[in-house]
This record gives sequence, C-alpha cells and structure tokens, in this order.
Amino acid sequence: MVTAWKCLINGQWVDSRSGRTLPVWNPATEEQIGTVPECGPEDLDEAVKAARAALDGPWGKMSAADRGRLIHKAGELLYQRLDDIAKLETANQGKPIFESSKIDVPWSANCYQYFAGWATKITGDTIGISPGSFNYTLKEPVGIVGAIVPWNFPVLLATWKLAPALAAGCAVILKPASQTPVTALKLGEIFTDAGFPPGTVQVITGPGAKTGMAMATHPGIDKISFTGSTATGVELMKACATTLKKITLELGGKSPNIVFADADLDSAARGAASGIFYNKGEVCAAGSRLFVQEKAHDDLVARLLDRTGKLLQGDPTDPKVRVGPQVSREQQESILRYIGSGKEQGAKCVAGGEKNAVNGKGFFVKPTVFTEVRPEMKIAQEEIFGPVLSVMRFKEPEEVVRLANDTCYGLASAVWTSDVKKAHRTARALKAGTVWVNTYGIFDPAVPFGGYKMSGFGRDLGRECLEGYLNTKSVWVDLS
Ligand code: NAP
Repeated sequence: MVTAWKCLINGQWVDSRSGRTLPVWNPATEEQIGTVPECGPEDLDEAVKAARAALDGPWGKMSAADRGRLIHKAGELLYQRLDDIAKLETANQGKPIFESSKIDVPWSANCYQYFAGWATKITGDTIGISPGSFNYTLKEPVGIVGAIVPWNFPVLLATWKLAPALAAGCAVILKPASQTPVTALKLGEIFTDAGFPPGTVQVITGPGAKTGMAMATHPGIDKISFTGSTATGVELMKACATTLKKITLELGGKSPNIVFADADLDSAARGAASGIFYNKGEVCAAGSRLFVQEKAHDDLVARLLDRTGKLLQGDPTDPKVRVGPQVSREQQESILRYIGSGKEQGAKCVAGGEKNAVNGKGFFVKPTVFTEVRPEMKIAQEEIFGPVLSVMRFKEPEEVVRLANDTCYGLASAVWTSDVKKAHRTARALKAGTVWVNTYGIFDPAVPFGGYKMSGFGRDLGRECLEGYLNTKSVWVDLS
C-alpha cells in the first residue's frame, strides 16, 4: 500500500503548496511505501509564521510546569504507540525490529520524560557584586529552532532535538531526512494529540539542498540544530553565517575502539561487534576502527569472527534478525565501493565483503571485517557508515593514542583494559566527545553527546544541551 503522508504546518496536515511529492521506500523489499510532500520556501514561510505566533501566543505564555506536562505526555503517547512506530521505523529505515522496538523508540520516550523535568529547572543567576547596582540573568528560549536530522535514527535523533528545545520553550520546525521522513510525521501526530499549541512543533519534508538550506538562510529562524554528515554541516554553517544564526552540529565519526591485551577479550569482542554492526553500521559513533594490542590480536579477531558469523542478517521485521538492509541502494553501493577499496589497498577481508539479499531483494551488505589494515588506507580514514570494520595492530599505549587521534573526526571512542589507570589515562588522551571504558555504545538522555574536531560542536542531551536552546539576558538595576 502506498500512503500519501502530509506535513504538519500550523496544526494542519497539508500537502506542499506546489503539490509535488517525494517517494518513500522500504529498503528491505525495495517497494515504495508512500509519498511525502516536497515542501519549498513558501511552505517554510508559513511554518515560520505559525511558529512565531505560537511563541508570541499560547506556547510562549505557557508556564514551565504546563510545558513540562505536555512534553511528558508526548513521551507517554510515544510509549503507547511504540509498536506501530517501531514497525514503521523498520519498514522505512530497514533497522531490525528488535532495535526499533527495544531501543530506538523506548529510548526516545525516555528522552521526553527526562527533558520534561528540565522545563521547570531552567533558571538564571543573581549577580550582586556591586553595592550600587544589582544584576540578574534571565534564560530565554532562543526562539524558532530548525531541526535537520539524518536517516540513521529517525525517531531518536529528532527526539534529541525536540525534547530539549521544547523544554527550553522554543518552537521547532523539524525536517527529517528524505529517505526516512515518516516516523517524524508520526511524532508530529503525537505532539498534536498531546495538546501542544499549533505551530509549536511542525514537520516539513523535502530535499536537504532545497528545504534544509531554506531553513538555514531564513531570517525568521533563530537556530539550526543539525545532525548529519560533516560535508553538509560545513555547508550549513556557511549558510547560517548570512543571518548569524546559531548552529549546533552533530556530525560524522571514525571512532577508535581500543583493546589492550589485558582486557576481558570476550567482552571486548562483543563490544567490537556491536560497536560496528549495530544498526548495520549506520551509526555516527560506530567503532569502525578496531585497534588491538599485538599480543591479543589473533585471539580477539578469532572471537570477533565467531560472533560475526553468528549474526543473523535478513528480513528486519523478524525479531531474531540483528542486521537489516542499508537504508538505500545508494548507501549499499557506497559501502561496496569502500569494501572494494580496502581489498585493492591490500587489507585482508576475513568476513563478509559482499552484498546480500533476501529473496533477491534488499540493500543488504554482509557484516564485513578487514584485518591487516594500515592507518593511511581509505577504509581506516573515511566514514563508511556501514557494517565494515577495520582492524589494526598496535604495541604501545602512546602509539595507539596517536593512531586513534589521527583522523579529522572526534566523536566517540572506547578503551578495553583491566588496568584502571591505563583506562583513565587513555580516556584523557583521546580527542573525542565520548569515551566508553569496557563497554560500547551506551547512551542516556542525562549524558551529553557530541563531537570534537570535524565531528562538530555543541552537545545533544544532558543539562548541557539546554544552553544551546537558550539566550542569556542580563538585567541591571540601579540601587544607588
Ligand atoms: P546528510 O546527507 O548530511 O543529511 C542529513 C540531513 O541534512 C538530512 O535531513 C538532509 O536532507 C539534510 N541536508 C542534506 N544536504 C543539505 C543541505 N545542503 N542543506 C541543508 N540540509 C541538508 O547526512 P546523512 O547521510 O543523512 O546521515 C549520515 C551522516 O550523519 C553521517 O555522517 C553520520 O555520522 C552523521 N550522524 C551524526 C550523528 C551525531 O550525533 N554526531 C548522529 C547520526 C548521524 P535530505 O535527506 O533531504 O538530503
């Protein structure tokens, strides 16, 4: 069945003014499942007007407690609709239903609950340092936030923007990725049903280069909160400069996963496999570079290959499946090109290394492991965004820190060791926004997440991310 989805503008479900649409696909079956409106600048203008009206009206005037209550309700509704939304996420993104239903959607609901609590806890300071005057600061919402998100975690990453922005009192115009727009529209339904005033949360769909870029240059939008590739982040930052719009950028990564010989190798092998094969490697924080200390190399690789061989790839709606199809044919082909380059540059492909299909359909790539990778190879430097692991050897701790930091990215990292001092020393030396010690890929709405270097700046999640959605106003009072 092909569903004609509509966008949410000013509390109404509408087509684009132009009437144009974009197709929506299922990457496992290669079937079209629907269409979404292709919104243009005229649709965005209307959304900006509605957002401003919400800020000047009911949303801006709402008490923090009521705001928190509504955000909490959105989280509750998401829990209630978990099954339907998880199924839709899997149908459109290709991620295994196990992940959509057990992780992505429940974690998103938790995120609304966490930030609902923050609505009433945003306060300024009193600064009474001068006898002749008194100062206090007010924390005010930045205004209209344009949230632009990628296709790898459609519900979750939209939530990472929406929940804190709403807690801070902002209005949000959300633009999901064109490959995965449908669950963002379902989130729109949740906000409408929860009772958010029209214009507070709006969802517009359309191509990034057109709709997303229009958001970055629109003078009525106060901030862009972006998650996506580094290349797009650079373009967006330039575009935001024309109106001096605030921007936070959550970008790509090539995260090092470091295993010392004294680590619990079974746990490390599990972390190495989940670190790269979770969500079929379409993870910004994927542990795509595995550094193994020489003495443990062969043992660790053997355990890793054992785990890789047991991963069930197939129909993502099957609860037993752990590896689904890539999001699109384009993504599948890009990954296969990287695999080709690894082979050409002399790395040893010890698992996978080719595409896969279910009943002849689907954009699958087999979980792939390369050993004997050299740091200068393309597969060790560039973000592949697929289930492809590059394994490298090291001897000394100083050497692996140097190798781990030798990339333009700095999003995440991990270190596996039984030596507490070594773990903390390495954590300090790694240039990355997140370091996991003896684990990989855990998140919590209370813990800030974001990048160093070309992985971006600003933070999602945690108390810290609220600052990105707030302005500070100083108020001086003469006491003399
Ligand atoms: P992308 O191509 O940069 O797209 C991300 C979003 O930006 C989509 O909504 C896209 O719309 C839009 N967009 C594309 N070009 C644009 C432009 N010129 N102006 C404005 N908006 C534009 O990234 P992706 O391929 O979807 O996602 C994968 C990337 O996201 C990877 O690099 C990954 O590491 C990164 N990521 C980072 C994090 C993090 O937290 N750091 C998390 C997840 C993913 P269309 O879809 O319509 O093109």
